Amino acid sequence: MHTPFPFHLWPLTTHLRRGRLHMRHIDLAAWATEAGAPLYLYDAATLNEAVAAYRQGLNAWPGPSLITYAAKAWLSRPLAQALRRRRLGLDVVSEGEMGIAAAAGFPPDLIHLHGNNKAPALLRRAIAQPVGAIVVDNADEIDLLERLAADEMGEQVIPLWLRLNPNLLAPTHRYRQTGHHGSKFGLGRDEATAAAERIRRHPKLRLEGVHTHIGSQIFDLEPFLAACDHLIAFAASLHQAGQETIRYLCPGGGLGQPYHPDDARLDLAQAANRIASHCAAAWTRYNQGVPFPTLVLEPGRSLIARAGVALYTVGSVRHLEDGSRIIAVDGSMADNIRPALYGARYTACLPAAPLSAPIGPARIVGPLCESGDILIGDLPLPAVRPGDTLAVPVSGAYHLSMASNYNATLFPPVYWLEDDHLSLMQRRQTVADLLQRDLSLPNYA
Ligand code: PLP
Repeated sequence: MHTPFPFHLWPLTTHLRRGRLHMRHIDLAAWATEAGAPLYLYDAATLNEAVAAYRQGLNAWPGPSLITYAAKAWLSRPLAQALRRRRLGLDVVSEGEMGIAAAAGFPPDLIHLHGNNKAPALLRRAIAQPVGAIVVDNADEIDLLERLAADEMGEQVIPLWLRLNPNLLAPTHRYRQTGHHGSKFGLGRDEATAAAERIRRHPKLRLEGVHTHIGSQIFDLEPFLAACDHLIAFAASLHQAGQETIRYLCPGGGLGQPYHPDDARLDLAQAANRIASHCAAAWTRYNQGVPFPTLVLEPGRSLIARAGVALYTVGSVRHLEDGSRIIAVDGSMADNIRPALYGARYTACLPAAPLSAPIGPARIVGPLCESGDILIGDLPLPAVRPGDTLAVPVSGAYHLSMASNYNATLFPPVYWLEDDHLSLMQRRQTVADLLQRDLSLPNYA
């Protein structure tokens, strides 16, 4: 049976020319050979379309709205600059992400600091910037914030959101569920009420927003909408108790992204429209007369995953007795831990011959000293030879941000394709980069 090429998993600019896979003018196989795989390529047009889809959907919200990119999906200084140009906000969780944002000149007031265990130094830096909001995750963080606020000499007021845990199970892998009571994230309803009261009584803390994030890879919106209701009902309880008006309503990110031809698909514009319309109706029901807050969505994966493609070179092909093959490439769990971490399923193709009929299944593995160093467990592929390029779509999120130097593997270079311009946005890591942190021990120099 003829299976159509799954263009919906590839960057928007992907097409076939003379039977070979291209992104705009770039012949992926020829270019990967010339530039030297492994490498990653991001397509700006695909990011643009995802942003536009979210914005279109958010038009259904009667108040202001904001999309904040979840930096954990992947961040670099040039990407932060590209996000800024697109008027996105940024959700950060660490000094590293905050530092990259600062180096890119990202406006601090569009940065929100998340995390379930923020170090005092990180909070101090967020207060000093000051970021748009610190998203409080637990009661201990309020203790810390009270102490830090007391140390502050000036009259500066620290804007806070509360991350609520609505006790909802997102229909996704358990490692990606973050909104149930067994999870390490967020405040239960009573804890959140107590936290809000403490903030209200503190002259240098101000509660401005309510937030939640129930998990990632959500295709069924019902639990997401239930989380929105939870936030909106909580905001209403605060208003009734005399708390200042809640100005930001953020039900998080986590909308689903297909990786494999068999995966479900989600229309981002429709999904954002459903969330916005649902929130508008719920806000009006619970908070009649209270101005609509800014509705903030903070997607990572659904903005950037499809924009990225990983290109690898085949090093060896081992034929097994059962007719299957083990194909070793120069990428690995060092640049993509997702299959090893939670069994993420990918597809891939030979960009020099993407439509060639498969001759049988192959397991795509990397060169690292782990049997779990598997990128794709079962991929139908045509005949493959050492030196061929293998292209893996949907590689833009949670690959390079989760990358490691295991076996002292060097991070691959990253390219950015915008209009017809191809730019190197991050060079390949070098051994000198790895050695930069190493010092000499006395007596061993
Ligand atoms: N917001 C928060 C607080 C998160 O923890 C995450 C991901 O873990 C996201 C947003 C983004 O999720 P996704 O990349 O699935 O959209």
